[in-house]
Amino acid sequence: QLYLDKAFFKQSLLDMAKLTEEQRDYWTSLDSDIGDGDHGVNLSIGFRGISAQMNDLYEETEDIHSLLKKSGMILLSKVGGASGPLYGSFFMKMGEDVTGKNQVSYSEFLGMIKNGIAAVQHRGKAQVGDKTMIDAFLPGLEVLETYQVEEDPYQFFEKFIEVMKKGAESTIPLVANKGRAMRLGERAIGHKDPGSESSWMLMDIFNKNLKV
Ligand code: ADP
Ligand code: MG
Ligand code: MG
Repeated sequence: QLYLDKAFFKQSLLDMAKLTEEQRDYWTSLDSDIGDGDHGVNLSIGFRGISAQMNDLYEETEDIHSLLKKSGMILLSKVGGASGPLYGSFFMKMGEDVTGKNQVSYSEFLGMIKNGIAAVQHRGKAQVGDKTMIDAFLPGLEVLETYQVEEDPYQFFEKFIEVMKKGAESTIPLVANKGRAMRLGERAIGHKDPGSESSWMLMDIFNKNLKV
């Protein structure tokens, strides 16, 4: 059986920080089309904060939950934009059900991602079709609900990512009902929502690290 330890989460957060540097200009350009052109910069500020403190955080925290929670708090406190509190909540709530644990089973891990997505939903109150990261996260959540223990965990996670990626694509023809893109009305049509793109790409880091 597949178990994930605290080092898996540390490495994943560091890799998300690296990804964010690589994708910063792309995510920002998506946000320039329909927002205020700072999405990549916002996440870069937040994840740089996490990277800078990671060694201390890893030593200081006694379980996976506190490591993720403190990392989420950095996103929440350092990022000025809407994505800070949203991704911040994701990581802060992710480990709540596995408090005290230093390793989690694959099923527990899927439960953690479900909790993270539920936290984003709770915080942002967006529905599918509002042209936000929820358009990627929610179809992903629906996939996670279907996991059967007989399934191959790696293939299953691939499917989760594929569905999130399609969810991000699905934002292109939409008018926004949440966030800054709302102000554009019909002019938002034809552009992908930046948060829907960053969300599947960030989750894809877990996908890659599962296989290591
Ligand atoms: P800001 O819009 O404050 O500049 P960012 O550019 O970093 O913040 O993030 C914008 C992204 O946040 C959007 O692309 C969208 O996916 C997401 N977002 C905004 N509002 C909400 C919400 N209420 N619920 C879910 N996601 C949201
Ligand atoms: Mg923005
Ligand atoms: Mg902004």
